[in-house]
Amino acid sequence: MAKPFVIHTPKEIEKIRLAAQATAYVRDELVRRVCAGMSTLEVDQLAAALIAETGGRSAFLGYGGFPGHICISVNEEVVHGIGRADRILSCDDIVSIDVGVALDGGIGDSAFTFGLKEELPIAVEELLKYTQESLMAGIAAAVCGNYIADISRAIQTVAQNHNFGIVRDLVGHGCGTKLHEPPEVPNYVRGSRGIKLQPGMVLAIEPMLNLGTDKVVIDRFDKWTVRTRDKSLSAHFEHTVLITDNQPEILTWQKTM
Ligand code: MG
Ligand code: MG
Repeated sequence: MAKPFVIHTPKEIEKIRLAAQATAYVRDELVRRVCAGMSTLEVDQLAAALIAETGGRSAFLGYGGFPGHICISVNEEVVHGIGRADRILSCDDIVSIDVGVALDGGIGDSAFTFGLKEELPIAVEELLKYTQESLMAGIAAAVCGNYIADISRAIQTVAQNHNFGIVRDLVGHGCGTKLHEPPEVPNYVRGSRGIKLQPGMVLAIEPMLNLGTDKVVIDRFDKWTVRTRDKSLSAHFEHTVLITDNQPEILTWQKTM
């Protein structure tokens, strides 16, 4: 049986740290530069150029056959949206950018959701605010000696306090030298407490919360885009986090988050 988790060596962690910084750079530049009037294909092309600037490559392009450089998921799209020439962003849209950069053997994975106008409806503002807060609560629980379920519980508590639907079909994951490594990091408590957190583990923690139902469907045609079943808005925030002897280190930290 495959090992249920990965402990990265100090040398690997150095590479993961650099890849995660490149990931954060691309994410933040996109958040700064994406605006109404762009097509989501243009966003993908901008992402490709930014990733090239870092000297890395997209960790998503070609992964399981994924055709984009990043995932761009708009409004009711939860994750795995693909840039399209005919999808023009409007100022009423909320946009989730999910970026993975592979650089010299390390990989970072990070997502951020934002509105394209200053003033958002209160419900949308709260969805974005508390999804991000649930991520930070999950990260705060990602300390050595805790279990995966402690991260899940911290996220779930924030989500439930605000009555958001927690997507269950998709989960966070180990990350570092491969895009997806064990263990899974669910955003809700499952039956068991899961594995114990140890220094050297790297986790991509990524709550996906909906204004409505937790149920999602996959696009029948592109076979990738995940949407809320009731078409309610969805938000997604993600950081790549290193478990240490002390506090967790957010490897994809930069000024946006
Ligand atoms: Mg991601
Ligand atoms: Mg991820």
